[in-house]
Amino acid sequence: MVELKTATHVDAMREAGRVVAQALTAVREAAAVGVSLRRLDEVAHAVLREAGAGSPFLNYHPAFAPMPFPAVLCTSVNDAIVHGIPTDYRLRDGDLLSADFGAKLNGWVGDSAISFTVGRARNADTRLVDTAFEALEAGIAAAVVGNRIGDISHAIGRVCRGAGYGIPAGFGGHGIGRSMHEDPGVPNEGRPGRGMPLRPGMVIAIEPMLIASGKDAYYEAQDGWTLRTSDGSRAAHAEHTVAVTEDGPRILTAL
Ligand code: MG
Ligand code: MG
Repeated sequence: MVELKTATHVDAMREAGRVVAQALTAVREAAAVGVSLRRLDEVAHAVLREAGAGSPFLNYHPAFAPMPFPAVLCTSVNDAIVHGIPTDYRLRDGDLLSADFGAKLNGWVGDSAISFTVGRARNADTRLVDTAFEALEAGIAAAVVGNRIGDISHAIGRVCRGAGYGIPAGFGGHGIGRSMHEDPGVPNEGRPGRGMPLRPGMVIAIEPMLIASGKDAYYEAQDGWTLRTSDGSRAAHAEHTVAVTEDGPRILTAL
């Protein structure tokens, strides 16, 4: 069941999205060699408190997880694709970090993720991260009235596969609104012209995940949350919450 949002709802979601953007900016500024993942979670939490917003991540407990998520931020380093738990691990030079964050404000949720290198970047990582954002942009550009979900999926998959990267099947974007995960699902690969038609008022999180080796295989780590690449190669992830409107896609989680 897809809830179409009114223009007023979308404006309210934009305010939640602004908090998400502010938190991710603060996380990026704080992320440096020697800084712990737990510290980054604290930085993000401080932004939530300042804004009077809640966390859709903290204590989130889907059926697949053995325990509720213990933090407000997901921190996925190197071979971790998504859902990494912020631990006492201290970032090292050249680490590739994905930071994924959500905020709930006045009953509405925003969800966004960035990937970046801490310290000196490997060329291969820079290309991977650039491609993740390129895939995100392609997905957003396809989020227009008259298209279908499959057009978004196809646009994302084309960029990722075209660059030679793998795509972890079974994880992808989602509808979002009063809760973090709503219908419809937005796969990161698909056939154009297929799936649910996009309508004004649909709000979706678009989130490509890329595996550097070109393989698609991943596994769930012992913590029951972190998804890691099976071959140990690095992964990148980028995400925005986007509203489909008569005037085109509106990004709700930009600064
Ligand atoms: Mg997210
Ligand atoms: Mg999401």
